[in-house]
Amino acid sequence: MTYKRMREIQIMADEFRQYCKVIKYGIVDIFDECERCGFKLVRYPIGEDGVLGFVQNRDDDKIIFSNSSVRLSREIFTIAHEIGHLCLHMKMRESYLEDVHTLKDYTEESEEVEANYFAACLLMPEDKVHKYISLEMATEWEKQWTAFDISKMMTSFNVSFDMILNRLQNLEIIDEKTKSRLDNEKNLKKVSNLLRMTGGDVRINVSSNVKRIPGEYIEWVIYNYNHNVIPQKTLEKALGYFDIRIEDISDKLRIAEEIEEDDLEALIGGIGE
Ligand SMILES: [Zn+2]
Repeated sequence: MTYKRMREIQIMADEFRQYCKVIKYGIVDIFDECERCGFKLVRYPIGEDGVLGFVQNRDDDKIIFSNSSVRLSREIFTIAHEIGHLCLHMKMRESYLEDVHTLKDYTEESEEVEANYFAACLLMPEDKVHKYISLEMATEWEKQWTAFDISKMMTSFNVSFDMILNRLQNLEIIDEKTKSRLDNEKNLKKVSNLLRMTGGDVRINVSSNVKRIPGEYIEWVIYNYNHNVIPQKTLEKALGYFDIRIEDISDKLRIAEEIEEDDLEALIGGIGE
């Protein structure tokens, strides 16, 4: 990524952040921010092995899906990454899928690198990181920082331990040696213990398994069904989340046809359609 492009992304992340509710350092609730910005957010626990999330342009709707079976701090990063795609790339492509299994393959892709950089700038802006270090750290000398210091930072920025280490290294605040020392200390003491001992919120380190589906989702599911993207069984299941029966919305449906497949990818919108 060129310096010029990094600056552009930083500016866009800053602009987005201006609208977010921030307490001191971190964004309070990035999920709320998605909705405040008019994105359609769907959070659903589809299992630890499922996709991390995806973003899709459907008609005038910008849909972000995130898998709430993964650690909350990881889910927050995925959301920030998807917002990055929406702000940076959606004029070029209709959808992006974040799959943990292919993550290694596509970290080389520039759009993925850019979305990750956007997420880092959004969640941990450089000026806030420096402010935190000068006001909150016991010492500015990074060689003396411990895993406890990093776990306190987790709570302030609402991000994962690993993300903080990566960000500090990318900003050239810590070197590789300090990073691996802190990483080793984390592995020994465990993040949940560190959070507990520093009075942090341990929920950031576990999955929330939240089911959050916007009202428009019903319209969207019906649209997908009417356009043959999802089968009737999936439609019934999706409506079931709202205790709606298929008979209740029958006037909005096309004539039903027999379609065999039934899987969650179809449910969440026919990825890649
Ligand atoms: Zn991506």
